[in-house]
Amino acid sequence: MPERIVIVGGGLAAHRAAHTARREGFAGELVVISDEARAPYDRPPLSKQLLAGALAPEQVTLPGPEIECDWRLGVAATGLDLAAGVLYAGEEAVPYDGLILATGRRARPWPAPLGLSGFHTLRRLEDSLALAEVARPGTSVVIVGGGFIGCEVAATLRGLGVEAVTIVEIAPYLMPVAGPEVGERAVRLHRNHGVDVRLGASVEGFDGVNGAVCAVRLADGERLEADVVLLALGAIPNTEWLAGSGLTLERGAVVVDEHCLAVGAQNVAAAGDMAAFPHPHAAGPVSIEHWATAREMGALAAHNLMVAAGERTPFRAVPTFWSDQYDHKIKSAGLLTAADAFTVVEDDPDGPGLVIEARRGEELVGAIGFNRPRALIDYQRTLAEALA
Ligand SMILES: Cc1cc2nc3c(=O)[nH]c(=O)nc-3n(C[C@H](O)[C@H](O)[C@H](O)COP(=O)(O)OP(=O)(O)OC[C@H]3O[C@@H](n4cnc5c(N)ncnc54)[C@H](O)[C@@H]3O)c2cc1C
Repeated sequence: MPERIVIVGGGLAAHRAAHTARREGFAGELVVISDEARAPYDRPPLSKQLLAGALAPEQVTLPGPEIECDWRLGVAATGLDLAAGVLYAGEEAVPYDGLILATGRRARPWPAPLGLSGFHTLRRLEDSLALAEVARPGTSVVIVGGGFIGCEVAATLRGLGVEAVTIVEIAPYLMPVAGPEVGERAVRLHRNHGVDVRLGASVEGFDGVNGAVCAVRLADGERLEADVVLLALGAIPNTEWLAGSGLTLERGAVVVDEHCLAVGAQNVAAAGDMAAFPHPHAAGPVSIEHWATAREMGALAAHNLMVAAGERTPFRAVPTFWSDQYDHKIKSAGLLTAADAFTVVEDDPDGPGLVIEARRGEELVGAIGFNRPRALIDYQRTLAEALA
C-alpha cells in the first residue's frame, strides 16, 4: 500500500477517490490538488437547478463526510516526473508513491479569437452563475451546439421565462450522439416549448456592437440576433500539463487499463472525464463523460492503487447517463456511440414515453429512453450481465 497518495483534480472523480481511500483504511498522507478554489461540487445542476435558481451554490457541494486530507485548492498541477515520482504544482514539487489523475475536462472554446463580450461556456459553477446573471427575460440567447448541455440550458432558460432562445446545431437533429429517433423527439420537444431550433446550420461568425456580440451569422447568410451566446461545443481534456510525461494519451485523454491504472506507468491511476479506458464495445480506449462513470472510476482508481496486483477489481460498470429537460427525464445505458443501428421498441406518439435500443449488428450495446426509467434499469442490468 502506498504511504503518500496525491490526487490531482477537484471534481467528482477526485472527491470519490479521496473518499474511497479513507473509507478503505488508507492511513497515510492524502493530498488533493485542485485548481478550483472551492470544495468539490456536482456539475449536473449547473445547467439545471443552479442555473434555474432552484439550488444555491452551497447546495451543490458534493455530499459526504469530511474527508481527512491535505486540500490544496486553487493550485494547478503543472508537470509530472514519472521516474522520480514527483508532481509539480507551480514551483512546488510534490512527491507521491500513489498518484490519481482526475483533472476532467473544460468547455471547448470557439476556434478563433472572439474579441467581443457576451460569450459564455458552461463547465464551472461560476459559469452557471454568470449565465444566470445575463440570460434573463427580454434577452435573446443563442446556444451554439445542440448536445445535452445546450438542450438542458435551452429548457432551463425557457423555464425562467427567457422568450428568445435559439439552438444552432450542425447535425440534422439535436443530441446527435443519441441517434436520430431521440434527436428528432428532442427537436419536437424544444420547438413545442418555444425554442427556435436551427438544424443543419453552421455558424460562420459573430457581429458586435460597442464591443459586445449582437448577432450570430449563419453560413447561409442569416443573422440571428443575440445578446448572449452560449458556446456548447463539447469538452476537451485538461491534460496539456501531462505532455511529455511519458503517459499514453488518446485524443488528449490518459489511457488506462481495465483497472483504471495508467498504461505504461507505475502507481498512477486516472479516472473520470480525462481518462480513456478499454470497453468491450469499443475499438479503442473510450472516454465516457458521464457523472456515474466519473464516480465509479474515482472509487476504483483509489481501490486498485491500494491493493496488491492480484486483488484488483476490473472496471466493468455499464455507462449510464441522465438528462432533465422541461419535465422530461432522458436516460441512457451502455455505449450509444458503438451502435450502428437504433430501433424504436416503445413509442407513445401522444405521450412522453420512448424507448430505443442501440445495436451493433445483432448485439445490444445500449438503450436510451424518454420518461421510462424502469425500462432503462432493466437494460442496464441486461448489459451488465453480458459484460460480466
Ligand atoms: C453543465 C454540466 C451538466 C452535466 N449534466 C450531467 C447529467 O445530467 N448527467 C450526467 O451523467 N453527467 C452530466 N455531466 C457530466 C458530469 O458532470 C461529468 O462527467 C463529471 O463532472 C466528470 O467528473 P470529473 O471529476 O472527471 O471531472 P471534472 O468534474 O471536470 O473535475 C475536474 C477537476 O480538476 C480540476 N483541474 C483541471 N486541471 C487541473 C490541474 N492542472 N491541476 C489541478 N486541478 C485541475 C478542474 O478544475 C476540476 O475541478 C454534466 C457536466 C456539465 C459540465
